[in-house]
Amino acid sequence: MVRGRFAPSPSGRMHLGNIFAALLAWLDVRSAGGVMVLRIEDLDVDRCTRDYAEQIIDDLHWLGLDWDEGGLQDEYCQSRRTAHYAAAFDTLAGRGMVYPCFCTRAERLAASAPHREDGSVVYGGRCRGLDEQQQQQLLASGRRPAWRVITPDEEWTVQDGNLGAYTLNLAQEQGDYILRRSDGVYAYQLAVVVDDALMGVDHVVRGRDLLSSAPCQAWLHRELGYRPPQFFHVPLLLAGDGKRLSKRERALDMAALRERYTPEELVGILAGWAGLLPEPQTVRPADLIAGFGWDRVPGEDIVAVLPE
Ligand code: GLU
Repeated sequence: MVRGRFAPSPSGRMHLGNIFAALLAWLDVRSAGGVMVLRIEDLDVDRCTRDYAEQIIDDLHWLGLDWDEGGLQDEYCQSRRTAHYAAAFDTLAGRGMVYPCFCTRAERLAASAPHREDGSVVYGGRCRGLDEQQQQQLLASGRRPAWRVITPDEEWTVQDGNLGAYTLNLAQEQGDYILRRSDGVYAYQLAVVVDDALMGVDHVVRGRDLLSSAPCQAWLHRELGYRPPQFFHVPLLLAGDGKRLSKRERALDMAALRERYTPEELVGILAGWAGLLPEPQTVRPADLIAGFGWDRVPGEDIVAVLPE
């Protein structure tokens, strides 16, 4: 039985890209007669709010997307699942796979590490070489470290269900990534792996912006003794000028979209971009289930110009 998930971060209103991925995640599960889980990714307590989470739930309902498990209950909210992340962290730490990193932001950026295609910096491993005594000294001086996992110098390939094979060298192209932040909060990369595993999620459908995380997550699943899920990354939506749609653009968030369109109009527009309708049409998500297939969904990013 397929188990998929919505995993929104309630740090703002959903925007066009979020609902495009959500529609495809829902169709992937419903067309397989599977189970949909809603997990609230509110790790970042400074930015995430209950109001936003409630708003997201209302927006999903408005679109006609439903789920079978999860929501605002504690066991589906990442901010309440710290014990699970701590257990996984301790497993890795017990195997000597994590180390404290005292680098400041400036030090990280100054490290002569390659920059990835998305502009992010690959951590050069500066604090990996600290010995026990140096670590103790830094801790004693009151500096609070983040904790990184030691990535192997190995290529990892995921077979993406929409985009095909995707390979990354974990050490060289991702670098040792953070599992626990210096404020003590467990990081997205650890939480998402633990949650997908413990919630039995075996289909992960999300935006292509997270593709480069997939090999890291698949590797972490294996290290923790779990089976990695099947990933499906969906194209990004681009503005008319070919640039990625801005999350900050108000006209593309659900508040504005709900004023401008009916749910059936909006779902029809998304379905057209997803290759599921030959021409724009008003539809409910349920009308798309029978015709859904990943072979219809494009791999290239989509110029998403909203009709008047
Ligand atoms: N919470 C993430 C987001 O809203 C999604 C994480 C994931 O799908 O793995 O962008």
